[in-house]
Amino acid sequence: MSYDVIIIGAGPGGYVAALKSAKLGFKTAVVEKDRVGGTCLNRGCIPTKAMVHATELYREMQNAKEYGIFAENISYDYGKILEYKQDIIDKLVGGVEQLFKSNGIDYLKGLGMLEKDGSVTVSGGEGAGNYQAKHVILAVGSKPALVPIPGLDSEGVLTSDELFQLQEVPKSLSIIGGGVIGVEFASIFASLGTKVTILEALPSILANMDKDISQNLKLILKKRGIDIHTSVKVEKVEKEAEGVSCFYTEKDEPVKVTSQYVLCAVGRVPNTQGLFGEGVELEMERGRVVVDEHFKTSMDNVYAIGDLIKGLQLAHLASAQGICLLEELAGHKRSIDLNVVPGCVYTSPEIASVGITEAIAKEQGLEINVGKFMMSGNGKSMISKEERGFIKILSDSKSHAVVGVQMMCARATDMIGEFGNAVANGFTVEQLLKAMRAHPTYNEGVGEALEDVFGEAVHSMPKKK
Ligand code: NAD
Repeated sequence: MSYDVIIIGAGPGGYVAALKSAKLGFKTAVVEKDRVGGTCLNRGCIPTKAMVHATELYREMQNAKEYGIFAENISYDYGKILEYKQDIIDKLVGGVEQLFKSNGIDYLKGLGMLEKDGSVTVSGGEGAGNYQAKHVILAVGSKPALVPIPGLDSEGVLTSDELFQLQEVPKSLSIIGGGVIGVEFASIFASLGTKVTILEALPSILANMDKDISQNLKLILKKRGIDIHTSVKVEKVEKEAEGVSCFYTEKDEPVKVTSQYVLCAVGRVPNTQGLFGEGVELEMERGRVVVDEHFKTSMDNVYAIGDLIKGLQLAHLASAQGICLLEELAGHKRSIDLNVVPGCVYTSPEIASVGITEAIAKEQGLEINVGKFMMSGNGKSMISKEERGFIKILSDSKSHAVVGVQMMCARATDMIGEFGNAVANGFTVEQLLKAMRAHPTYNEGVGEALEDVFGEAVHSMPKKK
């Protein structure tokens, strides 16, 4: 059988690429060894956000008396929470399979292997066989990374793939790594009553984010009972009678924390196991496939996108790369600016950012103006008691174009969309201020932060001259 495009991997990179490919008129097949949807639908973005939703609701119900609402015996059934999560996953997975069918895409079940002659061999599933293609796209994603800490293979040490497979809520959980996965899982399980400890090697959690965000989040999580240790070195992990112990060094002192489980959340590595047939030697760098600016690998007609290549490992980036690659294969221009990538963290309050931070502007010697609005002055935030947070907007001091935005507030992950648009299109502060913002909304905070870029926020105290 021969295709125009074969895509290996049906995660958010691969399945979106397959749909775009079919819509552009290419005869398309997609190979997948597990369920379609990849990490995002089955083990990552979607399940964690379902868990965030359920556990936040539980936390909110416990605080309902602040709104004059009283309920007794508020409790949860973890099995039912897991069922609710699984139901969402199943619906979305079914939806993708349906889209494959209705768009005429061949879904080849099995493990896909790229052969030296550019063909793809599928094995171990209903799609078994060897297939020819004009273009092969590798979109196999990533899996949790394990660092060489002695004892990390001990019983009770889990990755993010395994934690939701537990049928009970851990009584205590130590998390190695205070990145995005670390803080999201810490939030979820702390809401359910788990005693959570974060052990982060760098001086701050969410170290790649704006300093104000990491500092504020640390305070908020600590207030919720999460124990956070930064600048620590985990020396070893050991299974002991009372649980699993992490032995670490903090300020040169040896310390130990023992918990029922340990989550290792120290990053993700490409999922290339079994992907390359005999004699296939693609150029790789630090375990990732090297591609040029058109996603071409070192092998003719073979492309790679998503977590497999250098850059941010985010579902929406992988999808956007897939769309742009197919557009170029069809001879069209790219429709998306792949340099403007919004980043979101689903804690409470939510965190979102796009473009550069103040630290990067300083590093690059860029002259910027900064506008900031504290959400404690926003009516909608007061109503929902989510006043703790801010919106920060950076604009180029000459052109006034918005170059970066960081938000830590309710609905931040939705509100960042306006600024993805602004940064991608070079909109200026003045252009964004042209649009009236509805009252009362969280979005009014955006207007205030924009006005503050030039020190003209209407609802602010007069600045001292
Ligand atoms: P990450 O890179 O965000 O964070 C890993 C953290 O582990 C870093 O802070 C690092 O300093 C720390 N670390 C590394 N080795 C350590 C050690 N030995 N001891 C202590 N700390 C150590 O990676 P992640 O949180 O595992 O997430 C993986 C990828 O998945 C990321 O690219 C992330 O953006 C993505 N992801 C995104 C979302 C989202 O968009 N909401 C959610 C989950 C995951």
